[in-house]
Amino acid sequence: MTRSEPANPPRTNAAIIATEQAHTSGVYPKRNIALVRGVGAQVWDADGVEYLDCTSAQGAANLGHCHPAVVAALNEQAQTLISCPEIFPNDQRAAYQQALVAALPSGMARVFLCNSGAEAIEGALKFARLLTGRTGIVATKRGFHGRTMGALSTTWEPKYREPFAPLIADVTHVAYNHLDELDRAVNATTAAVLIELVQGEGGVRPADPAYVQGVAALCRERGALLIVDEVQTGFGRTGRLWACDHYGITPDLITLAKSIAGGIPMGAIGIHARFGPLQPAMHGTTFGGNPLGCAVARAVLHELTTTDLLCQAALKGEYLLGKLRALTSPKLREVRGMGLIVGLELKERVQPYLIRLLEEQRVLALPAGPTVLRLLPPLVIEYAQLDRAVAAIADVLDA
Ligand SMILES: *Cc1c(COP(=O)(O)O)cnc(C)c1O
Repeated sequence: MTRSEPANPPRTNAAIIATEQAHTSGVYPKRNIALVRGVGAQVWDADGVEYLDCTSAQGAANLGHCHPAVVAALNEQAQTLISCPEIFPNDQRAAYQQALVAALPSGMARVFLCNSGAEAIEGALKFARLLTGRTGIVATKRGFHGRTMGALSTTWEPKYREPFAPLIADVTHVAYNHLDELDRAVNATTAAVLIELVQGEGGVRPADPAYVQGVAALCRERGALLIVDEVQTGFGRTGRLWACDHYGITPDLITLAKSIAGGIPMGAIGIHARFGPLQPAMHGTTFGGNPLGCAVARAVLHELTTTDLLCQAALKGEYLLGKLRALTSPKLREVRGMGLIVGLELKERVQPYLIRLLEEQRVLALPAGPTVLRLLPPLVIEYAQLDRAVAAIADVLDA
């Protein structure tokens, strides 16, 4: 019996784009650049053109592309054990669970490992119902928590939600940074309040410290759990390991994903000590806590907690914010950010025009809602590269 070789992948930008167009589901509004290689904050397309990546692969590559620690952990574990469902204990998982719990905001004691941000949210919603015996979830306007049915129910954007109605019941959305509205929405049927501390997809909007303190106090007073969604803000994005660290709060449940494992698909839920272990067989997922993801995630966490990367991210974030705030374009309404999650609110639409102009300048950026340009550069980005991004933005705002 002869085995045929797999077909060679298409080689040029045009060929790759055409092949994907022919076979992909169609749900992604695709950009016209086929990325094939990356290192640090740089990526290359199939035709050899270099770009400065201020997206970190949608926030999944906080350590930059192909970080040596990620590559080494991936290589080593790939030759040792790749699959091991969580019913069997495993050395890499044990070590990672211990390291993650130690690094989480104080008071967190256990973790559930899964495969994505939406899956972390799904689990957190189920855990909140289980732990409180209540059903209500209060989320925020402009909040984003993912696309699966449960997570989608808590995501605010109506155009994402409405085609799939009816979603799960008992979810309400209140204005972000308005404690009064939350006060009216949280009652004896509320299982949890779900918030981001910097709304990411919703336009890069940091929460006010007084609001966050108020949310935490209100949850405690009414017996609702506080779920903090750090899928985008976690792992150094804001200049601290967690956005929670800026606000001095410990959530009941924290959701993590994106940069957790250097770009390998993974997610996690941190669970507060006061709940103890959950009941066996109440939840689960085949790939959760697989050794490959755990080995890489441990390398990522080690890198973030034993180098000056967090401090670097904070300093670079201030530098970038300062430079962007000094821009005087009449198109610019406001610059917001925390560490290296930065948003430029414009007086006009960002998509697709400005994103495309930036691509022409060889800089990749993201939108966050209709009028916000979002920058999520890798924490390893160099100052000269930040200057390059700012120069490109200044240029396109002048255009
Ligand atoms: C991206 C994101 C999610 C969803 O994560 P996926 O891995 O895409 O499912 C959830 N919450 C926040 C805050 C996010 O930024």
